[in-house]
Amino acid sequence: MNDNNKPGGNGSPPNNDFKLFMRIIIFSLIVTFGMHLLSTSMVSKMNQEIKYSEFIQMVKDDEVSQVEIQSDRILIYPKPKDNTPYIGNYYYTGYIKDDNLLPLLDEHNVDYSSPVQENSIFMLFIMEWVLPICLWGLLFMFLGRFLMKKMGGGGIMGVGKSNAKIYMQKETGVTFADVAGQDEAKESLEEIIDFLHNPAKYAAIGAKQPRGALLVGPPGTGKTLLAKAVAGEANVTFMSLTGSDFVEMFVGVGASRVRDLFKQAQENAPCIVFIDEIDAIGKSRDNAINGGGNDEREQTLNQLLSEMDGFDSSKAVVVLAATNRPEVLDKALLRPGRFDRRIIVEKPDLIGREKILQVHAAKVKLGNDVDFKKIALATSGAVGADLANMVNEAALRAVRMGRSEVLQEDLMEAVEVVIAGKEKKDRIMSEKEKRIVAFHEVGHALAAAKQKNTQPVQKITIVPRTMGALGYTMQMPEEEHYLMTRDEIISEIVVLLAGRSAEEVEFGLVTTGASNDIERASQLARSMISQYGMSETFDMMALESVQNRYLDGRAVSNCGDITMAQLDQEVLAIIKECHAKAVEIISDNKKALVKISEYLIEKETITGEEFMDILKECDEPQETPENSTEEAITDNKEENS
Ligand code: ADP
Ligand code: MG
Ligand code: ZN
Repeated sequence: MNDNNKPGGNGSPPNNDFKLFMRIIIFSLIVTFGMHLLSTSMVSKMNQEIKYSEFIQMVKDDEVSQVEIQSDRILIYPKPKDNTPYIGNYYYTGYIKDDNLLPLLDEHNVDYSSPVQENSIFMLFIMEWVLPICLWGLLFMFLGRFLMKKMGGGGIMGVGKSNAKIYMQKETGVTFADVAGQDEAKESLEEIIDFLHNPAKYAAIGAKQPRGALLVGPPGTGKTLLAKAVAGEANVTFMSLTGSDFVEMFVGVGASRVRDLFKQAQENAPCIVFIDEIDAIGKSRDNAINGGGNDEREQTLNQLLSEMDGFDSSKAVVVLAATNRPEVLDKALLRPGRFDRRIIVEKPDLIGREKILQVHAAKVKLGNDVDFKKIALATSGAVGADLANMVNEAALRAVRMGRSEVLQEDLMEAVEVVIAGKEKKDRIMSEKEKRIVAFHEVGHALAAAKQKNTQPVQKITIVPRTMGALGYTMQMPEEEHYLMTRDEIISEIVVLLAGRSAEEVEFGLVTTGASNDIERASQLARSMISQYGMSETFDMMALESVQNRYLDGRAVSNCGDITMAQLDQEVLAIIKECHAKAVEIISDNKKALVKISEYLIEKETITGEEFMDILKECDEPQETPENSTEEAITDNKEENS
């Protein structure tokens, strides 16, 4: 089903390439060495060199039977003699032009000859030079290609050829039913599907068909999935490519890939061409930050623009692209006739999350107690990819627990794993550290419970997690909010600062454990003033603006130094006010703080209900300990105070 279209024969995994490469090197070395040995041994086996005068003397002494005169040397074959301890076949000596030599040889009846040498010199030349050079040349060519492939490109040999890794699927097998929520996005895509079904209808009226649409949204919200679903719904071929596939070392390669892509698309029409992460090539061309010019990217982009304008409009080809950084895209890409349609794929809301959970849980055996609404409530801000992951984690946990179905507790645990990491059961904390963490967490919980405008506590735990939390307090909203009031933000900051405040109130010391709380609190306070217009001083002035709202949402300042300094002062004032408020809440509820913390240290994890029960008891005027847990807690308290 998957037609992985990869011309260029780069199918073998790199490991095999490497083995082949090593073999060629070894083979070349052996051949070169062998040739050399062979050729030298042809000239002189293990023979002995003698002086010319010695040679003449040997002739005169009648010790020579035969002489071979070569261009540069004379080989002397001695007469066999019993008492000479000589092993070689002949002696040799350098050639000296000597007119007396031949008469002398004649005189002593020595045979002499001179070999016809052209042939052997030629052979020698071939064997000693041409062959090894060819071999080494081959080797280097191979090496070059090998490295090119390592660097992920088509290589010098592939310039201009189609090497694009186009991923082509005749049937994606994905339909809109697989994409939960995202109803607005689906609605916008319906028209494209209709066009792919029936291009003639549009042509008859003279309507210009949609050329392309840009799917915009944070990572993991289902953009790629939607694009596949469009192809699935329309029942057309799906061709996809990632923006970075176009970006090559060599100028012009990207552009030629774009050409190839559109050529193939027209051959396969009707089809959908999907360019994922188009920001890799579609970055604005006049961007000073990028140092002005990247020729290669610019050419690729230009080619893309002209292909989108130029391709045969009677062919039903629709180009979809996805990005999570629409703000960096070149304006020319967004102009009518290109990616003029922008389809926002937002993070799912409460209902959307519930639907996504249902879609992914369809293949999973569920217990009766599973309540997706609760999970959806606890996962505000999670995207489709997170939720899919959570369902899978829950199923894995159920298997680990030896169950045959997934229960609500598996899902809740999976939520925590995705948010905070896995439990680190083997981390051993000292009793003292455990106490500090427990008081810290209960501090958060108390601040949440004692203020209006806050989310109820769901769970408190001091079991450390892999993502750095030593413990945490989980709050869960009763319903989803789209707006936050100033009071709600202030309350949230107080809750964040209450962890550290509890450490201060109980132990009179501060630890490093609050850094994440502090960061988040400061960020909230800053946003209140710089983005949400919630301060008297700056009224509704925007001091910061969010750069890429689909990624980290980092805010960038757009005001001067003095204003910034003032902003910092305002932030500090809010933090101080909230800190004081947190300390006040903790001090007022010191009894509950101690009691709940002791209980938490004993149990390690407590639910929101347990927390509220103890809190209510403490709030009642008279204290009548009834059950054994109560007593244990009171005992502990006395020990520690
Ligand atoms: P993106 O391209 O926006 O980064 P993907 O389309 O690759 O996100 O989504 C990743 C995975 O998350 C999908 O394969 C799917 O399993 C899941 N997913 C995301 N959004 C949805 C959704 N709306 N409905 C169902 N599953 C979703
Ligand atoms: Mg994607
Ligand atoms: Zn904290």
